[in-house]
Amino acid sequence: MIRTNCFFCKKEFEVGASDPQYKKLRANPKASYVCKHCNDSMQKDAQQTTGLNPDMIDSHTKYL
Ligand SMILES: [Zn+2]
Repeated sequence: MIRTNCFFCKKEFEVGASDPQYKKLRANPKASYVCKHCNDSMQKDAQQTTGLNPDMIDSHTKYL
């Protein structure tokens, strides 16, 4: 478990090994973490502005 703060909402989260961002944080504890909530709202924004299907966006990593 890694404790880190979301880059956007600044809330603290515990990131487990099942999280796609876990390995990145493990390798670089200063890497930015984006929580699921913020990631989802970013994908919605991206969909509205680009018309892209969020499934086409590489989850979690696209915006970092
Ligand atoms: Zn967040």
